[in-house]
Amino acid sequence: MPFTTRAAVLETAGQPLRIRDITLTDPGPGEVLVRTVSTGICGTDVHFADGMLPYPLPTVLGHEAAGTVEAVGDGDHGITVGTRVIVCDQTFCGHCPSCLSGQMVYCADRGAKQRQRRRLALDDQPMRQYLGVSSFAELMLVDAHNLLPMPDALSFDAAALLSCCLTTGLAAVFNVARPAPGSRIAIIGCGGVGLGAVQAARIAGAAQIIAIDPQQHRRDLATRLGATDTIDPDQDDTITAVIEASGGGVDRAVEAVGLPTTAAQAFSVLLPGGHATVLGMMPPGTDIALPGRLLRQGRSIGGTIMGSVRTPADIPRYADLAVRGTLRTDDLVTSRRPLPEVNAALADARSHHGVRAVLAF
Ligand SMILES: [Zn+2]
Ligand SMILES: [Zn+2]
Repeated sequence: MPFTTRAAVLETAGQPLRIRDITLTDPGPGEVLVRTVSTGICGTDVHFADGMLPYPLPTVLGHEAAGTVEAVGDGDHGITVGTRVIVCDQTFCGHCPSCLSGQMVYCADRGAKQRQRRRLALDDQPMRQYLGVSSFAELMLVDAHNLLPMPDALSFDAAALLSCCLTTGLAAVFNVARPAPGSRIAIIGCGGVGLGAVQAARIAGAAQIIAIDPQQHRRDLATRLGATDTIDPDQDDTITAVIEASGGGVDRAVEAVGLPTTAAQAFSVLLPGGHATVLGMMPPGTDIALPGRLLRQGRSIGGTIMGSVRTPADIPRYADLAVRGTLRTDDLVTSRRPLPEVNAALADARSHHGVRAVLAF
């Protein structure tokens, strides 16, 4: 049976979201209905809201979420009503070559796209669900395997951050960059993703963690979370400053901004044999200019989706790190607003004055 729920609808890119009643259906086989409790404003949401990345409109943005299970469809998925869950946007089939080789972020599950086309409607017209989640809404209809039960001691805000930004930073370091204990690492951009990477570098035993961000409060927080050095790119040239601070370059660099200049900087600060991991989303048509002479001596640069996270294997471990206090989450949420203030929350995220803005239901 169809029913309605309140949601923030993006009808035109670059225009404010509007609070509307949208229509959902009861969960079908393998689907779960989740009541949203907390959802973060991710840089990706801002890019789609502003039209920097294209998406079929209208839609309901939001993909970094946590909530409580309201209803479950048929299927042996082990999710029960009332369970507190992290809602993740990584949809996977579990049996394609990508899934079977631990690269489930590259799963090409066509069925997921079809399900996303029929879940939401606005004014009786079907509306494409956003990244399989659409969490700027009081209720979310999602695949059961996008849900990860959260530990009792974890807050909903922390759970939401583990659904995207923190997990992206952690997985990029643990799964892709893999700094050796005692190595040196530079992290460009200290929003939610970068601060996840800073903490992962600390947990992985990096000896020097150089955090780069133009915002003083973000650099201060990076220091509290494990950075050993900080650089203000508005004051100092990033490449020169990193090479000077590290005594010649770093073993690993992580770019968490999404600009061609910062991606090129991540590559240019590497020692021979070093690797730069680019996490930020580049707009379509973006080219990155790299200094060719540095390609010698084994330096490399690569991208990843969400740090090549394997959600069911990795996120519960990250949640455990958060519950035990090894991973710090609470200082990261710097603004909490109700759904009707979604446009102000997007403005908070655009301004970079805080770290993470969340909608609290
Ligand atoms: Zn995100
Ligand atoms: Zn697959």
